[in-house]
Amino acid sequence: MDTLLERLGIREPEQGALIGLNRLDCLGSVIESISPVDGKILCKIRQADATAYDRVVQAAGEAFLRWRDVPAPQRGELVRRIGEAFRGRKKELGALISIEMGKIRAEGEGEVQELIDMCDFAVGQSRMLYGLSMHSERPGHRLFEQYHPLGPVGVITAFNFPVAVWAWNAMLALIAGDTVVWKPSGKVPLCAVAANVLAAGVAADCGFPPGLLNVVIGPGEDIGEKLAADERLPLISATGSVPMGRRVGSVVVSRLARPLLELGGNNGVIVTPGADLDLVVRAVLFGAVGTSGQRCTTIRRLIVSNSIFDVLKKRLIAAYRQVKIGNPLEDGVLMGPLIDKEAVETMQKALAEITKSGGKILYGGEPLTGGLYDTGAYARPCICEVQSSFPVVKKETFAPILYMIRYETIEEALKFHNDVPQGLSSAIFTNDLRDSELFLSARGSDCGIANVNVSTSGAEIGGAFGGEKQTGGGRESGSDAWKAYMRRQTCTVNWSGRMDLAQGIEFGEQG
Ligand code: NAD
Repeated sequence: MDTLLERLGIREPEQGALIGLNRLDCLGSVIESISPVDGKILCKIRQADATAYDRVVQAAGEAFLRWRDVPAPQRGELVRRIGEAFRGRKKELGALISIEMGKIRAEGEGEVQELIDMCDFAVGQSRMLYGLSMHSERPGHRLFEQYHPLGPVGVITAFNFPVAVWAWNAMLALIAGDTVVWKPSGKVPLCAVAANVLAAGVAADCGFPPGLLNVVIGPGEDIGEKLAADERLPLISATGSVPMGRRVGSVVVSRLARPLLELGGNNGVIVTPGADLDLVVRAVLFGAVGTSGQRCTTIRRLIVSNSIFDVLKKRLIAAYRQVKIGNPLEDGVLMGPLIDKEAVETMQKALAEITKSGGKILYGGEPLTGGLYDTGAYARPCICEVQSSFPVVKKETFAPILYMIRYETIEEALKFHNDVPQGLSSAIFTNDLRDSELFLSARGSDCGIANVNVSTSGAEIGGAFGGEKQTGGGRESGSDAWKAYMRRQTCTVNWSGRMDLAQGIEFGEQG
């Protein structure tokens, strides 16, 4: 373990403030990074204090003044090299993600691949920061829009994707000409330090200023709040729970800066009578059990036609029985621990609420004990039968609980589907064109992501990622998400030698 941390550039004790590669001596309280896999302490981290925080943001601001002048394709070249560096460290960083966060090795490495994909995407985008040109209504005038770098941006991330969400933001920010101040979750600080050290090392080798990529580690209610309120940061991207987003969003909006919110989901899948149940079972297994049910896009609600409900229920229970739970680094294990004991306790509370409301636990749910399991962070994934109207079903419980809900008509299925406050990801499994088109229509899914015969989880980086309603409305990653990291400027150039006014207004003599 020590060699893995050393190879990834982690020091013991680690500091909670990094300007690029440079650690600042911090005076904040000490936290421990604890592996949920076996409960061992991986490293101690002294969190950022107010002075260290201030120095980091100052450095990010100074670096921005230089970085914005570097041509965008050259900024892309740095991101290309960063992507190469991560290619070379995929296994090690993937293993650290598994150890610190608990997801299985394939998913840990998959997360690093997502980071690499994001670098590749950003490299291409660095040559495509297109503005538009319009035809002016005035003779001898040119009208166009262009995009400029925005400034140093704050990026707050959740525990469940310790590096990918940073990459969605940071790689686009870099090509946009922005610098980054990253506040990772205190539950996975080492992944953040490792990723930042690797990327900032590449920037340093290329001779760029250290303040391009920075980290501040500290509690949300202290360092997170400082970031949200900091007038020097024109954009705050925040990924996490709805209550966190509500708070950060209001602080950022109150200073009239830009919030980019990626919050909780409560993702539903509709299964129609003619659906291919082989596909459904495979999709649900990955979508509901993968990452121990701790993806924002995890399948939480399975809305199934009454005509096939019992068949699908039996098949899912049989599939869940095969899920090997244990050390996420071991071959064959499909589910590791949850992030901590508290997450298992929250799961138990939700299950108690389900049975109190009249729901049935069809399979699993119990905490596991003995050996590794004694960390208290392991539980069996759970399938329940519930009514769509139960209050607990409207909430996101960040755990592997799958709610099965019966429906009679497709209209009823859609009503159940949309009747939750969150709006991140959604799917329909069907072979009926009319049902899939209805699902994708304006009367269909109200989510930011809507799939047909594809799970709600496991999005590719090429599309814009994000959701509606309480999920916060932000879009990150692919498509035109880069625009959030730049300021748009509309320009009119008059080369006519006259002073014509728009809308044909006459005002005084024309010379
Ligand atoms: P969380 O809300 O507890 O914490 C997320 C981040 O916000 C952490 O870095 C935390 O320190 C910080 N934070 C907390 N309070 C803050 C405050 N007052 N000011 C500033 N920062 C503050 O979430 P979590 O438990 O780490 O992650 C799970 C949640 O994240 C789930 O709801 C999940 O759906 C969501 N999530 C959403 C997406 C998405 O893209 N929509 C992606 C991943 C996770």
